Amino acid sequence: MPWVGLRRAVADLLLGNPSAGIPPRSMQQVISRMNRTWYQGNGPERSAPGYRPWTDAPADQPIRNPSSWLAAALLQQDCPRPDCEDGTLLPVGAPCRLCEERHTEHRAARQAADHARQLMYGAMRPDTAGSDRRPLPERGPQATAGRA
Ligand SMILES: [Zn+2]
Repeated sequence: MPWVGLRRAVADLLLGNPSAGIPPRSMQQVISRMNRTWYQGNGPERSAPGYRPWTDAPADQPIRNPSSWLAAALLQQDCPRPDCEDGTLLPVGAPCRLCEERHTEHRAARQAADHARQLMYGAMRPDTAGSDRRPLPERGPQATAGRA
């Protein structure tokens, strides 16, 4: 029964699982979570035949069993609050302060990294150090994950 784990994960999210600390979510929230998890995890590419990872990072490795992978990934979340669904607290819908803080820190870290890259790039290529300097291309498929 290859889909048992995935069915159980979806049921835990829809119905809640108090012993696992999972509060219930709406059908739309679970569908959004499934799509977000699959596409931000580069599921289509990583599960495709002949896929070759860019790096040795776990988030870059091939997905050999999409059902098992999605079942495990669905129940993970970046926010430590189990009642947080994508930055919104269940069931009232108030914004999650932990997520806001994490996003603010993430943005600041990204800006610092972008600034450092521009300084390095400008130092290596002084002819481009001007007001028309373009942002550097980001590297690898992970660079775009987590945005949107
Ligand atoms: Zn949160």
